Amino acid sequence: MLKTGFIGLGAMGAPMARYLRDAGLLTVVGNRTQAKADALAAELGVRSARSADNFADCDVVALCVSLDADVIENATALARVLKTGAVVVDHSTVSVQTARRVAALLAAEGIAFLDAPVSGGVEGARNGKLSVMVGGAEAALEKARPVIEAYAARISLMGETGAGQATKAVNQVLVAGINEAVCEGLALAEKLGLDAERLLPTLMAGAAGNWFLEKRGATMLRDAFAPGFKSVHMLKDLRIVQGIAREAGIRTATIDQAVADYAELVERGYGESDTSALIALKRKP
Ligand code: NAP
Repeated sequence: MLKTGFIGLGAMGAPMARYLRDAGLLTVVGNRTQAKADALAAELGVRSARSADNFADCDVVALCVSLDADVIENATALARVLKTGAVVVDHSTVSVQTARRVAALLAAEGIAFLDAPVSGGVEGARNGKLSVMVGGAEAALEKARPVIEAYAARISLMGETGAGQATKAVNQVLVAGINEAVCEGLALAEKLGLDAERLLPTLMAGAAGNWFLEKRGATMLRDAFAPGFKSVHMLKDLRIVQGIAREAGIRTATIDQAVADYAELVERGYGESDTSALIALKRKP
């Protein structure tokens, strides 16, 4: 049985760790704010890590932290303590360059790395039905597969290190455009005085139906913006995507608009609110 550690117990990580415990794979959890790790460890009957040393006996360590710097910090600490042949799986959304840098620093210690960002939102994490986009070696994925399977609906090996994050960047272009369209459309519907209870199922039944409208349409019309997916994380993702898209040389009108909108939203104090708070901007130019 694989011994697994999980670091980053936020909106996504905590439910993922619960699935690992249910699969009998979870040994130890860690988090920047120690109290969160202590509480979840007590609930799940596993160890709460005080430092990287507490992960030394793990075969697999999964991360779902916030930023590139958080992934680099954790991977650097894990490289010191994990045994040869262990696998680090990163579910955070970070740049392709960060994935490559972390893979290299772990490889120097004989530790494998998979960039494995996820899509499906907090609902996907809570239902154990995430789409996981993986970059790295097949052998490392086979070793870590029982861990990822605990919370995945689909696991796709997309290519070498960085291919998972590249796939997630494409995913976020679609998410950015959908969010722009849904928030603008529903802001318009409010101005036109349309009844939300009739409007939302009507839109969902036709060609405009989508995940964001289904999961966030009713709540955004009630000004309920509990995350979900924080706007500050969306802005982080979009800046990564903007860099990749400009380098690739495509037109970036949708991405540029979304970056500008989420930057303004964060500036207006909505950083910790769900991305559906974008409707607040769309109501007032
Ligand atoms: P979140 O709710 O803010 O949780 C992040 C967690 O990571 C927090 O518990 C935080 O600790 C911990 N953390 C941050 N830096 C750390 C570090 N250096 N060491 C240890 N723990 C650290 O964010 P989330 O929504 O779960 O998202 C996590 C990642 O998944 C992000 O990269 C995000 O872009 C991505 N993602 C999110 C969604 C979504 O719908 N929410 C979907 C797909 C992908 P504290 O308790 O100290 O804050």
